[in-house]
Amino acid sequence: MCGIVGYIGNKDSLSILMDGLKRLEYRGYDSSGVSLICRETSKIKTIKKAGKIKDLEELFKTNKPCKSNVGIAHTRWATHGEPNDINAHPHNDCFNKISLVHNGIIENYRTLKNYLIQKGHTFVSDTDTEVLAHLIEHFYKGDPMVAVKKALNRVDGTYGIVVLFSEHPDIVIAARKGSPLVIGKSDNQMIIASDASAIIAHTNQVLYMQDGDVAYITKNDIELSTVESNDALDAEFVEIEMTLSQIEKGGYEHFMLKEIFEQPDSLRDTMTGRLDKENGTARLNGIKDYFKNLTDADRIIITACGTSWHASLIGKYLIESYTNIPVEVDYASEFRYRNPIITERTVLIVVSQSGETADTLAALREGKSKGATVLGICNVVGSTIARETDAGIYTHAGPEIGVASTKAFTAQVMAFILLSIALGRKKLLSFDQGLSLIKEIEQLPSKISEILHDKNKIDSICRKSYKKKNFLYLGRGFNFPVALEGALKLKEISYIHAEGYPAAEMKHGPIALIDENMPALVIALKDSIYEKIISNIKEIKARKGYVIAIANKGDKILKDIVDDVIYIPETKEEFSPILSVIPLQLIAYKIAVMRGLDVDMPRNLAKSVTVE
Ligand code: GLU
Repeated sequence: MCGIVGYIGNKDSLSILMDGLKRLEYRGYDSSGVSLICRETSKIKTIKKAGKIKDLEELFKTNKPCKSNVGIAHTRWATHGEPNDINAHPHNDCFNKISLVHNGIIENYRTLKNYLIQKGHTFVSDTDTEVLAHLIEHFYKGDPMVAVKKALNRVDGTYGIVVLFSEHPDIVIAARKGSPLVIGKSDNQMIIASDASAIIAHTNQVLYMQDGDVAYITKNDIELSTVESNDALDAEFVEIEMTLSQIEKGGYEHFMLKEIFEQPDSLRDTMTGRLDKENGTARLNGIKDYFKNLTDADRIIITACGTSWHASLIGKYLIESYTNIPVEVDYASEFRYRNPIITERTVLIVVSQSGETADTLAALREGKSKGATVLGICNVVGSTIARETDAGIYTHAGPEIGVASTKAFTAQVMAFILLSIALGRKKLLSFDQGLSLIKEIEQLPSKISEILHDKNKIDSICRKSYKKKNFLYLGRGFNFPVALEGALKLKEISYIHAEGYPAAEMKHGPIALIDENMPALVIALKDSIYEKIISNIKEIKARKGYVIAIANKGDKILKDIVDDVIYIPETKEEFSPILSVIPLQLIAYKIAVMRGLDVDMPRNLAKSVTVE
């Protein structure tokens, strides 16, 4: 969470910082700010403002930035201290000689703050971050690197920081522990950012900082070492694959809508090179060295958060359908603090779009320390989770900017489909069964296109229900996790209370909520439990509920028993979540737009949850 940009070079730093900040706004948007080392005075000028980046730009009209070639900028997702002007980053020391931006949480900030107050420091904000500026000031005796390292050695928690020193206008210092930082280099300039999307307009040569790294950065050079040691590390730059057009809206009103419509292509990218018709299986080169650990596993544990956790539940259903390996799914935030039973034959699969999710990363480390083989399913190439797992499957969905995840979800489900078939072929699936699954996978992108281009029905349903206060999402089997995901989408961007539930569980409680004011969206496909879900729908109708059904094309029964039906193409039951989730994404999107809400920047949320 939070966006960080730093710049040092010959160009006007403000425009580069602001351009980068706008690309990172999806990572936090409750306030923003910049600090510049002014070219003429070598003094630090800090300008910051609660609200969105456009509010900061508005402020520049009255509080004019100075000319500068070195600066830092931040867009915040508050953890400590409400989102106001003062708590916005950057934060400075007592004399405005040091300024920094921070992503993460300083856990021992109270103790440090009390200590620094005793030493005469004056604090102005309620943030944990301000402690870092004063702690660096406390240790600063002329050498910025010494001061930063001494300070970081006293800090518990997580950070990605970029620091300016007015007495050293030719350098910036960056350090990371638990929060991502990337450094991009091109001719006579360096750009530091919390993700590569703020960098690619300038260069495709990047260095991904590792936990513990500290970088001393001039416009031409980087000296890399660690918090603990001054020994120089190799500064290894790699080429990034991302393109500028991938992170722009491309004519769509919102990133979320663009990403919903990208799904036929993003799924093709997830499956490219992985469908092996000759052997009726899926080929996953990324995990081939660990494949035997999977086939020999006594248990697979999948751990994730949010939407990735929903994809993981579908992963469990898939793997257990085609193999005889028991699979458990756990929230990463629970897994990391309980005592998960792990043997040397346990395989832990961690799932995260960004590959930086703090709880998932901690779960990965916990699993590894207990001896599990740890595999990852990630979207962002080179992310921390991708690097720390033994091996993994990249989802190749392309950059996902919309805070409400859409294409990353379907890509994760696809990764699980491929994994379960590959494993299934070593267990319960015959060649013919494998081949028929592979052939059906190939059809999924065009079936999604069919749903996307047939959305008039969805508009009219949304018009009827966008003012409702509560929604119930029901599904069974493979579509139970889809019901959870549909409800989550609606909550995230429409702020409507929505509950996802296994349809049959409804009579154990939620049915008490049913009345004509609470739409129940039921996924009722022609699958092995179709008749059962029809009974569940009848139970709702008997209580005057308003039912919207997601049904298969050709279904003749549902239209007579529910209020509205959205039809989707048929596929194999196990793959149906990839299709049934599409109308639910569109419904959440449309309802949010009808309610006049900012779809790409829903309140209180931000992309890439890098804090606990
Ligand atoms: N903990 C810091 C704050 O609340 C940083 C938050 C962020 O990562 O945006 O200001």
